[in-house]
Amino acid sequence: MALIRRGMPCALCRAPLLEGQPIFATSGVWLPPEDPLHRYCDAAMHWSCYAAWPQRPRFARVHVEAWVKGDDQDIWSAAVHLDDVVFVTRSLQSNRISVLLFETGTGHVVTVENWEAWLGGGVADAYAGLHPLLDAALAEARARLSRALPTVAAIEAAVSPRKRALVAEEWERGLRQQAEMKRYDDALDVMAEAAAREGLACPQCRVVRNDYKLSHKNREKRYLQCRRCGHRFGPDGPVLR
Ligand SMILES: [Zn+2]
Ligand SMILES: [Zn+2]
Repeated sequence: MALIRRGMPCALCRAPLLEGQPIFATSGVWLPPEDPLHRYCDAAMHWSCYAAWPQRPRFARVHVEAWVKGDDQDIWSAAVHLDDVVFVTRSLQSNRISVLLFETGTGHVVTVENWEAWLGGGVADAYAGLHPLLDAALAEARARLSRALPTVAAIEAAVSPRKRALVAEEWERGLRQQAEMKRYDDALDVMAEAAAREGLACPQCRVVRNDYKLSHKNREKRYLQCRRCGHRFGPDGPVLR
């Protein structure tokens, strides 16, 4: 959301945004600078001003279209429904389902556990009651989704196998990286112990020493450092910084 301060001017009518007034706000910029609607990105306005704004249908539609494009690039999110009213994504790293409405440009987060209750109206939407236009758009989206994605199982079935495979690959890559870091750290500890106990020839200056400095830096590759020549090395060879 754009940074909203009470009393700041509405992007449309310039009157202050007051306590208790429903406010529509977006964050991020999804229009090129030459677009006349560019200056309304990342801005806040009265919901009543937004609803009556002649540019609102286009502004809302391109906002959701930007989400659709962005989602395709995001491996942790899967598009599970798209029609002319509503776009739905399922997060692949949390229990969030996002519902985006073309009519209003609003995004509504529903948890997987609440999906069926939300569809049936048993769980109120966080933005319900802000404006009749929004309530009508939500009702239309729920009606469409009750047919298209009536259950959590239907949502899971709609996640593309390509996205699932990308996520599985990414998990495996992470696990391999962790395993590789552990192997390196263990080998470095063994090397440091042996050097302290028996002495070790520095690979650069060739002097045998037992007082190597062992780095403890987090998030950086750890190493032994020769106190004579400054050379840094580990079990796999020189460590460059
Ligand atoms: Zn206003
Ligand atoms: Zn050395």
